[in-house]
Amino acid sequence: MSISADLPISMSLASSKYPEISAPIRSRSRAKPILYPPTKGKPPMKINRISVFEIVTPYPQGYGLSRGRIWTSFESTIVKIGTDAGIVGWGELQTLGGNYLPAFARGAKAAIEELAPHLIGENPLQLDRINYLMDHVLYGHPYAKSPIDMACWDILGKATEMPLCDLLGGRFEGGLDLMCAPTVGSIEEMLAMTAGFRENGFKRMSLKLGGDVAEDVSRIRAILEHAQPGEEYYADCNRGWTRDQALRVMRQIRDLDIYIEQPCASYEDCLAVRRRTDHPMILDEIVDSPEMVMRIIADGAADLVNIKISRVGGLTKARRARDMCVTAGLPMTIQDVGGSGIVQAAIYHLAQSTPQEFRHSVYDPLTVVSDALTDAPIYAQGGGALVEASDRPGLGQEPLPGSSLGDPIAVYG
Ligand SMILES: [Mg+2]
Repeated sequence: MSISADLPISMSLASSKYPEISAPIRSRSRAKPILYPPTKGKPPMKINRISVFEIVTPYPQGYGLSRGRIWTSFESTIVKIGTDAGIVGWGELQTLGGNYLPAFARGAKAAIEELAPHLIGENPLQLDRINYLMDHVLYGHPYAKSPIDMACWDILGKATEMPLCDLLGGRFEGGLDLMCAPTVGSIEEMLAMTAGFRENGFKRMSLKLGGDVAEDVSRIRAILEHAQPGEEYYADCNRGWTRDQALRVMRQIRDLDIYIEQPCASYEDCLAVRRRTDHPMILDEIVDSPEMVMRIIADGAADLVNIKISRVGGLTKARRARDMCVTAGLPMTIQDVGGSGIVQAAIYHLAQSTPQEFRHSVYDPLTVVSDALTDAPIYAQGGGALVEASDRPGLGQEPLPGSSLGDPIAVYG
């Protein structure tokens, strides 16, 4: 195996949708990263092709979060990695638009164009090495690295004929408690959404709030009046309150049993709110790396941490963050931003390999989008919110023939 960063790049594009990446065949010259020597002995498996697909799923009813952010479609970037062994892996990233996180779909495609040439010829089974290499050639942009990392994990599972949860630490007993996320709306709309999820067996409700103190207090009080035994609620303002607004909300709902999730934009403001409320605190958007998890643990800044796979850079780094939380005794909600059956499988495997007492809830992206692309179950529509990761090798999910996947928009290798 070689770590050649001077590969001649052959790139073909099946679509002219993205003229900015429709570059002709060209060569690149970059400094070689400093890595440990390649494995000796058996010839390693090599990545020989990386294909990128795009799927845009309309969501006409709109998915809304605080401060008027609303999205009427979701864009998935799907990565297929081929190998010289004939094993193929799949990964996926979905964003909510560029004003949810520092991540956006077109940015992912541009970043993958930068990364892909350096990955051709690499061994996909060496996950930490792959991640080290990606971080060397492109600083930041963890979201764009996630589908590549996910596809390499899928290859590792298929090569070893093991489901990913076995490789991520082992299958812990018990089902996964799915959460749901009623989007911000009027009290009547949110009550109806919450009742619908309840009918389908959901007991973890992440209420999306709007950012107005009086309206948000009214929403929380109205919905918790109907709370049933065994249900748990998160008041999630998605960084939409200022520090003073958050403190006013906390004061007015002090009698209610509810978690507070990512009240403010900055870490400092969230920490200040946490130190002045006795509601348990969840941090979500701010958790963007394993390093941030270390800081949260050191500061005692949260009672639950939300691990979103793509936000921290993929399964490899999500596992690191998960393991730090387990070590520190900090429970998690295990999630990703969104996606099809591919992302659903990645979430389930990471959650299933997490000890039961530390996985407070699990997000299923198919509670929002119903195009699974794969044969993944859609629990939001079929009932039952206690699920398990599959026994199939790897992710256990890949696009079905005849799905909406279409042709690749870019092929590298
Ligand atoms: Mg959240």
